[in-house]
Amino acid sequence: MYALNMIYIEQIPVMNDNYIYILVDKSTNQTACVDPGVTSEVINYLDNKNLGLNFILNTHHHADHIGGNITLKKRYGCKVVGNKNDADRIPGIDIFMEEGDQLSIGNSVCSILEVSGHTNGHISYFFEKDFALFCGDTLFSLGCGRLFEGTPSQMVRSLKKIRSLPDDTKIYCAHEYTEANSRFANYLTPDDSLLKKKIIEIKEKRSRNIPTIPTILSEEKKLNPFLRFDDKSYLDSIGMDFMSSSVNFGRIRKLKDQF
Ligand code: ZN
Ligand code: FE
Repeated sequence: MYALNMIYIEQIPVMNDNYIYILVDKSTNQTACVDPGVTSEVINYLDNKNLGLNFILNTHHHADHIGGNITLKKRYGCKVVGNKNDADRIPGIDIFMEEGDQLSIGNSVCSILEVSGHTNGHISYFFEKDFALFCGDTLFSLGCGRLFEGTPSQMVRSLKKIRSLPDDTKIYCAHEYTEANSRFANYLTPDDSLLKKKIIEIKEKRSRNIPTIPTILSEEKKLNPFLRFDDKSYLDSIGMDFMSSSVNFGRIRKLKDQF
């Protein structure tokens, strides 16, 4: 459990490598659950703590993120929040969001960033007072989501939005992919001493089954290959000429897909 300024965050590992997050507004005990792919772990947690569920926050339509919507909605009467432009694919949706909209969970306010690329209509939830971003499968530690529906230029737009958030923003992504991602980052720049240090930390945490998530935006800006598509000296070091952000992002993404 993480105690931030306004909210408590419980991070629940489920399935192979997913994280579900339960947010509790400190001042009101109002709650939200981010991307409940499954339900029993969520129900156990809430019942144990004698909490209800006020909101489900969905980032995108994939089954490992929305699979528990209907069961949880029936049990708790919570409102399902998702992207207005992806409403057809978000089961039980009640609150239709778009870029710039805000949602209050008790006294905690988050704003919506539209971050398509992994899917069309993917959104993120940013809690400004807590510097906390729930970004689903858009940005991972040392990686990013595969482009299942969107284009490189859409993903670049989305990643630039995330990159422009405050440096100490904590990134609560939906998967523990960090160790696998680190192997690709290390393959690109085997001599990066900062990266080597991070990899030691990652291995140490994973060997004790500790999450590497959340990660911090400032670190990702320095180490994540998918945020460095316009960093000329980085591109130089991996032997890639700078063409444009989307072209270079697309090439790095393709290298990873084939890695
Ligand atoms: Zn996904
Ligand atoms: Fe996923």
